[in-house]
Amino acid sequence: MRPTRFPVLLLAVLFTAPFASARLHSSQNEPAPAAPHRTTARTARAAKEVAPTIPPSAYNDHPKLAIILVIDQFRGDYLDRWRADFKDRGFNLFLEHGAYFPDCYYDYANTKTAPGHAAIGTGAYTDGNGINSNDWWDLARNQERPVSSVEDERYRIVGAPDSSIPANRPGAPPNAPKYLTGSSPRNLLASTVGDELRLATQGQAKVFGISLKDRAAILPAGAAANGAFWIDPASGYFVTSSFYMSQLPDWAVAFNTGDAIAQAEQEAGLTSVTNFYGQVGRTPAANSYELSFAEALIQGEQLGQHDVTDLLTLSLSANDILGHQKGPDSPDEHEMVDTLDTQLDTFFTWLDKNIPGGLGNVWIALTADHGIAPIPATAAQYGLNAATFDLKKLTANLDYAINMKFSPGEKIQYILPHQELPYISLNESEFLKAGIIEQEAEAAVQQLLPAAVASLVPAPPEPQPSDAAVVPPNPSSTQPPPEPSGQRLPPRPVLFRSYTREQLADGPYPPTPWGKLIAHSYSPNGGWYIMIIPADYQMEQLSSIQTTHFSPYSYDRHVPLGFYGAPFAPGIYRGRVEPVDIASTFAALLGINQPSASVGHILTQALKPDAEVLYPKPKPIPPVRTHRARTETHHTAPTAKSAPKATTPKATHP
Ligand SMILES: [Zn+2]
Repeated sequence: MRPTRFPVLLLAVLFTAPFASARLHSSQNEPAPAAPHRTTARTARAAKEVAPTIPPSAYNDHPKLAIILVIDQFRGDYLDRWRADFKDRGFNLFLEHGAYFPDCYYDYANTKTAPGHAAIGTGAYTDGNGINSNDWWDLARNQERPVSSVEDERYRIVGAPDSSIPANRPGAPPNAPKYLTGSSPRNLLASTVGDELRLATQGQAKVFGISLKDRAAILPAGAAANGAFWIDPASGYFVTSSFYMSQLPDWAVAFNTGDAIAQAEQEAGLTSVTNFYGQVGRTPAANSYELSFAEALIQGEQLGQHDVTDLLTLSLSANDILGHQKGPDSPDEHEMVDTLDTQLDTFFTWLDKNIPGGLGNVWIALTADHGIAPIPATAAQYGLNAATFDLKKLTANLDYAINMKFSPGEKIQYILPHQELPYISLNESEFLKAGIIEQEAEAAVQQLLPAAVASLVPAPPEPQPSDAAVVPPNPSSTQPPPEPSGQRLPPRPVLFRSYTREQLADGPYPPTPWGKLIAHSYSPNGGWYIMIIPADYQMEQLSSIQTTHFSPYSYDRHVPLGFYGAPFAPGIYRGRVEPVDIASTFAALLGINQPSASVGHILTQALKPDAEVLYPKPKPIPPVRTHRARTETHHTAPTAKSAPKATTPKATHP
């Protein structure tokens, strides 16, 4: 298919970038625009001229570049909470010059990083895309440990420095990367908006994913992406997998061997870095580092300089690494967000200068893969029952009870080790050896679960009601009932719900919003399992971090959703929307098929009438000399010493 050139007639009337002409009529304190915008005289003329022609779409490079920007663990209330701090065109690009939806919630229960990123790319939840967690047990592939959502032993990592010896090789340092294996979207069971863009343009559109994390680079970009890049944890080198290419493109090699890593370490205030991911990754410098790599990729791959629309998914990981350690209410988190505001302003300004026609030829969607719970101790201070679960003790209690039921006197490990909420994974081999099928095993564990939870923190005797005269005293107790407490009692673990894998797969689901949310959470991945849902604000006990996300509760499901770009009518749009709406809305506007399992809605309430959607005329494209040719100071980001001519990596798959 040949791309259709945007009509010259229309280009002649398109002289103003949407950013420059953005009507700042709407702010948080003003009502959201309710009806389509009134057509101005100029746009009416444009409409008259445009009417008989082919509308803007991916096929005629409108926009030149679409970006899905994901901030890992960025809860939906942050932008309101720290709104007064924002300056220039960082977050305000969405809040003041774009369409912003403050009430965006995921509609599923397993709010982890991999499923969140998969949902953003595919416009589908776990029941549609198959990704239910970051890691899960797959005994057919590995009986020693859970496999990750993207690891793939059929491929190898490409681009790691020689010094990065994997953990399972002799001589590996203590901070060695965990896996020798490569990665791929092998478990992603649905296409992404990027995949559909590649199919629709017959490979002319370029699609890439970037993150510090493999899963967050791979899953939103999809199987047909030209490449996905994440970092080697020890060195900070950006790497990829032989699923995508057999060697790094020259521009990526230049980035890795330039001074970017040293500058990031310096910006983080670190002198001795042995674990880039853990040490630099938790600082704002990691965001500078990723944004610099994104610029290098955009220039190296000439994104936005094709006859069709290109797509980049960019997931910024630093907020998640810091947020787990410090919690959402910490000054560190506040500082990270404010710094990111400045870093995004610099990145958007860079796009304005480096994409043909400027920022007016770019769409950007902003969201997050999940929110975060307050640190349990903080929530408990305010009186919430924010208990933590001792997961090891819980599984030991369950194993004991299952042995009592099925193999009295024995100590068979029916529950697999390395559990992570919301899942308790069962050792199907041991159950099968005992002649117990999945349904019976899961039902038995589910039945024993309440008692196992209750025994985590044995309940003290309760005081008698004040009308105790009507309650006969317990004759077997030698202790008098305690007096009512004069202060708040400590939090206690509460099991709210549990679902076996078979219940998740088949229902019945109640015909309620809760039932839909649970139905969205099913995946066959993970073998035999029980999904357990503690009460709100509760989580497993954490050793090296302070808080986490995994639950169906609002604080884990609430994320920002913002759009910037020519088709979007600036305003604050109140009303529930979902991150899966990004893929649907982009696909619709690009004129391509929805991703294969998409359940998102097209956010028509935020779209301008077609006649008002104007794109600036691109200037002639300057030749690419170096990926960091500009001279202005970037968020203290580095400049590679040399950048050989950009090349296109060869995909090793169709
Ligand atoms: Zn995450």
